[in-house]
Amino acid sequence: MKRHTKIFLGLAIGAVSGVLSNFLFRDSPQLQFIQKYFTDPAGKIFLNFLIMMVIPLVFASLSLGVAQIGDLKKLGRIGLKTISYFFVVTAFAVTIGLILVNVIKPGNFLPEETKTELMSSFQNQATEIKTTSENIEFGIQTFVNIVPRNPVAAIAKPNPEMLALIFFSLIVGIALTIIDKDKAAPLIKLLEGINDITVVVINIAMKFAPIGVFALIFSVTSRFGYDLLVALSMYVVTVLLGLTIHLIFSYSFLLKFATKYNPIKFFKKIETVVLTAFSTSSSSATLPTTISVSQTNLGIPKQITGFVLPLGATMNMNGTALFEGVTVLFLAQVFGVNLSIGMQLIVILMSVLTAIGSAGVPSGSIPLLVMVLAMVNVPPEGIAIILGVDRLLDMCRTVLNVTGDITCAAYITKSEGFELKE
Ligand code: ASP
Repeated sequence: MKRHTKIFLGLAIGAVSGVLSNFLFRDSPQLQFIQKYFTDPAGKIFLNFLIMMVIPLVFASLSLGVAQIGDLKKLGRIGLKTISYFFVVTAFAVTIGLILVNVIKPGNFLPEETKTELMSSFQNQATEIKTTSENIEFGIQTFVNIVPRNPVAAIAKPNPEMLALIFFSLIVGIALTIIDKDKAAPLIKLLEGINDITVVVINIAMKFAPIGVFALIFSVTSRFGYDLLVALSMYVVTVLLGLTIHLIFSYSFLLKFATKYNPIKFFKKIETVVLTAFSTSSSSATLPTTISVSQTNLGIPKQITGFVLPLGATMNMNGTALFEGVTVLFLAQVFGVNLSIGMQLIVILMSVLTAIGSAGVPSGSIPLLVMVLAMVNVPPEGIAIILGVDRLLDMCRTVLNVTGDITCAAYITKSEGFELKE
């Protein structure tokens, strides 16, 4: 049986048994016992196993990617193309979301009593997130922090500063292309070794993927408040519709016309990545799979996967940006805050910037989203209203985030004159 079939089975069995347990045994001590002692720890171990390799992988693959591109002019060209692609396609994604939320107006469908109920049930979580978001320094300091004074300190924390790691890795890669070849060779060998080790470790982790995915999905579906899905249905539909339009139309359009690659074939080849992103809700945890599937199934050259994909996992979050835009406007509608076109343009800009700054972990974007709410005068504690359905939306937006990275890598490959594997 193929790996993605096994993962899909894990996902399907996890979803069916989770939903059934939710309906039959919700809040029973037995179910809580299973969640607490079996599925939660199993899911976390699987996620940690994958995320554990992300820092060495980003460092090794980015600096190697840069060193392999070799020529600084070529690096500048690929870098500029990649970053421009991220900005343009992410802004396009938010625009789709904003058009939908203005047309559907999901905020007008939320009854006052549901709003009050949600605000009080998720009040504690919302206050915690609000405190985290108040401590985020977003502004000029964010740009200053991209150049880390101490690269080890920047990553040695629960939420590593990925942009600082990216900067450090890029600079090391650039230096490797400048120094004498024989002096660069030992470090290049070492980086190749680290890369190969991550591949092996991830392969070991992915052997457990069907069980890990089962556990993650069971934990989510057996706890999920399905009644919330009904109460927030118009909001959920708006986000999911936006994500689907961006996935089916924008990505397919880019693949077909800019990359000249059949979109259906493309998505078939990256099934494992889609399943991993959906079940882990984490671009970072999916990164190793994203890199290996792009190389093996699509034939994207190592220098491009090594450069574009680690950057993309941190900076290119189309699904997250779209979700942020929709959520800000939805909550503005709920609280009766009128956002002018000018303000909505600020929402687009802020959604793009905060999506770049979001950590690629489950709910990584929520504290930054709360910051945007406060910025446009929507009560930030209103985040409580959507917290109950966030995980479901997170699973879907992470799929967009990750598939967007591969779409970009495929485009860069083609535009640099390489062929993709048919
Ligand atoms: N979970 C998302 C990711 O890892 C980030 C977010 O939208 O919260 O890509």
